Amino acid sequence: MSSEIVDFLRTPVQFLKGVGSFRGERLNRMGISRAFDLLFNFPRDYLDLTDRCEVNQLEEGKIQTVVGSIDSWESQLTRRGQMQALFVNCGNGFVKAIWFKMPFIVREFARDRRVMLTGKPKFDHPFWVMMHPQITYLSDNDDEAEPESFLPIYSLTEGIKQHHLRKIMREMLPAYASKLEEVFPQDFLIRHQLLPIENAVKAIHFPTSKEELFFAKRRFVYQELFILQLGLAIRRLQHRTKLKATPLPTNRTIDVRIRQRFSFQLTESQEKAIKEILDDMSKAVPMNRLLQGDVGSGKTVVAIYAMLVAAANGHQAVFMAPTEILARQHLRTINRILENSRVNVVPLLGGQRPTERASILQEIATGAANIIVGTQAIVASEIPFQKLGLVVIDEQHKFGVMQRAALKSNEKFDPHYLVMTATPIPRSVAMTVFGDLDVSVMRGLPPGRQKVITYISNPEDRTKWWDFVTRKIRENRWQAYVVVPLVEESENFDARSLNEVYEQLSNGEFAGFKIGILHGRMSTEEKDRIMFDFRTGEIEILVATTVIEVGVDVPNANIMTIESAERFGLSQLHQLRGRIGRGKKPGYCTVFTSSPNEESQKRLKVFASTSDGFKLAEEDLKIRGAGDLFGTQQHGIPPFKIADLVRDREIVDEARRDAIDMVTSDPGLANPEHAKLRRQMLKRYGTVLNLGDVG
Ligand code: ADP
Ligand code: MG
Repeated sequence: MSSEIVDFLRTPVQFLKGVGSFRGERLNRMGISRAFDLLFNFPRDYLDLTDRCEVNQLEEGKIQTVVGSIDSWESQLTRRGQMQALFVNCGNGFVKAIWFKMPFIVREFARDRRVMLTGKPKFDHPFWVMMHPQITYLSDNDDEAEPESFLPIYSLTEGIKQHHLRKIMREMLPAYASKLEEVFPQDFLIRHQLLPIENAVKAIHFPTSKEELFFAKRRFVYQELFILQLGLAIRRLQHRTKLKATPLPTNRTIDVRIRQRFSFQLTESQEKAIKEILDDMSKAVPMNRLLQGDVGSGKTVVAIYAMLVAAANGHQAVFMAPTEILARQHLRTINRILENSRVNVVPLLGGQRPTERASILQEIATGAANIIVGTQAIVASEIPFQKLGLVVIDEQHKFGVMQRAALKSNEKFDPHYLVMTATPIPRSVAMTVFGDLDVSVMRGLPPGRQKVITYISNPEDRTKWWDFVTRKIRENRWQAYVVVPLVEESENFDARSLNEVYEQLSNGEFAGFKIGILHGRMSTEEKDRIMFDFRTGEIEILVATTVIEVGVDVPNANIMTIESAERFGLSQLHQLRGRIGRGKKPGYCTVFTSSPNEESQKRLKVFASTSDGFKLAEEDLKIRGAGDLFGTQQHGIPPFKIADLVRDREIVDEARRDAIDMVTSDPGLANPEHAKLRRQMLKRYGTVLNLGDVG
């Protein structure tokens, strides 16, 4: 782009027609300082004037819209209270709008002011009357007398009115939009049904039809998603071509030996995941795979299989859990499975004595340690692996592409990576935040896993529920969880706090039972002791925060109460519930709420209706929206300006396919036709995706 054009697009807003220094200053405060910014300050919504009708076309009982000028208004005291009536001249007739008990509405009335009324009209001779219509002021200056079919609604700041901004936009759009640079090649636009940039910008501000608006939005959503997918595709490719791993193949002998260690048959999904993982590990390119499996689907076994293949190849494997509790649990599972084998498993945990730690580090450095199990915190410290072949990261649902730990061993090769998550991630999100990973999915539970019966209970049902829990503990020797959300003292919520619940239960309903408390601020030793006592049955009821959330496996604990459940997200509730139903009998889960709103009630209903984590994730996404749930930012990706992973999930698919195609045929984006896309991609994602030199 020539520098003249760049300069032109960078014209400070105050020099644009109709802006001036006062409004320019206001715009600057909204982060709009250049002509360019104004072009990309897209409307947040639109007034749809296409459905409006003339007075003589109105029909009773149907919501309709009319446009006209204010003629007059009056106020009356009626039996139903103060009434405001407004007469609007719609050209070929009048419409009378009526509001009760809204005296303030007259403040905006002004003779000849253009308004739009939306409501259900009724003919009451001699007028069409609308009761409590929605009123929209179109403009209070005359030169906007004939409104377009759609009017943009901008996010505004004080001192700038919609009609000001509309007027400014109408003035500046033709000249400036035509100077914008098109990043897509011409034939690409045609093939992918994308509006050219100039048309798209004009149409997104002043669309003339629903279709035009749809295509204008589509163009920008697509572009935003495509640019990211381009970056991800290149990152994937770089990973394939630049990084080298030692192939860790398997064979029949190894396979038989590993399988002998499991006391059960692997499920079909486990077999499939293992096959995909082993395929990757047998290659000289590091595996970079996400294993997505619902809570309880048996991911640990899959990971152990992969680690044993690494060990059989004379390489080390490291297994990282997010918490100490989980690391210890994995350690126990692995040790049990590997009892009497020559595989040497070492723990790397907090709270180890310096001498102990030194000797473990020694074993790791010499290669005497085959499998290292620890918390993700060990990533932070430099561990001197001798021959690191495989890294397994368990329950990594909070981190995405960007922060994935980079562990290196002394050798030049990179290890294979397996990332596991029990958070079922909707496809469109996985393709975005984990877009550079290969994905294996495990659905369904191993045989023997029991279902969990879920109730949403009212406060009146408390006594009944506690009676039920008591009976189950007495008669069936079951154990129970009571989960309480973390409540900061300062918070003015109705939610019940951990200590309060603990006190109440141990002095009331559960007096005489062995009851324990567990939360994140306890020391590691305390937490371990409590978990040990719970596992051995020494504690019968565990009152806990979400520290028990992921992965904890105590089969005898089969009953769960969740307090103030409205404070948990769907996927968190699902994780919690996944702690029970692990034994031979179905589990029971009940949720209590303290101050639910409509949304949380909806969420809890969905929660009670299914235990399929993938279904729950999709529902959660619909209720809460992607931004909130899978904030791309928490995964290190800058927020989207216009795309929405829920609404636009089909475009995510499309953009991803197209980006992969482009990178396959032009790996360095060296084709001059792709230069602008390449530049835009690097500008936005070069650093976050760590792309270095492309090409
Ligand atoms: P998650 O995927 O949530 O990490 P786990 O790996 O903890 O699940 O497995 C859940 C439970 O299922 C464990 O008790 C495990 O021993 C058991 N399990 C795993 N695979 C099988 C199988 N193929 N058959 C029977 N039980 C299994
Ligand atoms: Mg697990």
